[in-house]
Amino acid sequence: MIDRAILEAAAEAISSAESLALACHVGPDGDALGSMLGLGIAAENAGKKVVASFGTPFGVAAGFAFLPTALLVSPQDFPAEPQTMIVFDAASLDRLGELAENASKAGTTIVIDHHATNGGFGDIAVVDGAAAATGELVALLLRTLGWPLTPEIATCLLTAIVTDTGRFQYANTSPSTLELAAELVAAGARPPEISRHIYEEVPFGYLKAAGAALSRAELDKDKGLVTAVITHADLDEAGIDWGDIDNLVDTVRLAVEADVAVLAKVHADGKVKLSLRSRGATDVGSLAAELGGGGHRLAAGATFVGDAKDALDEVRKRIEDFR
Ligand code: 5GP
Ligand code: MN
Repeated sequence: MIDRAILEAAAEAISSAESLALACHVGPDGDALGSMLGLGIAAENAGKKVVASFGTPFGVAAGFAFLPTALLVSPQDFPAEPQTMIVFDAASLDRLGELAENASKAGTTIVIDHHATNGGFGDIAVVDGAAAATGELVALLLRTLGWPLTPEIATCLLTAIVTDTGRFQYANTSPSTLELAAELVAAGARPPEISRHIYEEVPFGYLKAAGAALSRAELDKDKGLVTAVITHADLDEAGIDWGDIDNLVDTVRLAVEADVAVLAKVHADGKVKLSLRSRGATDVGSLAAELGGGGHRLAAGATFVGDAKDALDEVRKRIEDFR
């Protein structure tokens, strides 16, 4: 539960600001974008000057392009020293990429986040590791501010909640998560539309690239680990982007023999991004933290410089320490 006094302090800082600069973590997912845009649109409706952005690479994944993104500006156009900055869904400052520097120069930084590993950076930390999504905390804040939900805002916040709860399937889905979802639908969010864009539409090339990656998947029964590798060459050949394969790890983790699934994404710049998922016995958030990344107990990530095999070996070596 979040402290009432913290919510009120954040609401006071936000309502007294003339302009707000919003940022979420790099490679934004539905919760990062939805929570940021939801608050941003509400603030704009309340008469604030608002910009929103995230660190390079600056592009919204195709599945989230239906969100109202008019507030987005490129990180180059983000104020260098914002008076009031709000940070969404980031457990630490480095998750902002180059906008970390803007945050460190901001007059007041408000952090809204639900990572249990968040150490409470920023001047006002609206952080609750028990919240299913950062979008839930934004909804609480809007209530505190007395700012009304519109269909656009409700769509953003429901997107945040739907994506971070795996469509209400994960254990983080609480009665209050479902109550909030009901409130958002009543305010005009449309679940079938959100689901269609995010889960029911892929470019044809996805089938080819996913097929290639899945055909190379490996199972280590002893370690309870399933791994797959997808490379920039797979994507190029299929004519798709990284944003198109955000949900591919959800297919890899279906292998019932494994407690942990890892998808290694090999980028053209030599970086390997790992997506880790756990069925419950393994704390992949702590494992990822040991590899310089982070995340939640059951869903986490880390970035590696080197090749995919070495990156996966690092996971394999440590996996038993986190059971
Ligand atoms: P995904 O595998 O979907 O990219 O990320 C799953 C979760 O892991 C994210 O919600 C985020 O909390 C965390 N995460 C992913 N990549 C990183 C990373 O490079 N560093 C940190 N600290 N967390 C990450
Ligand atoms: Mn989140």
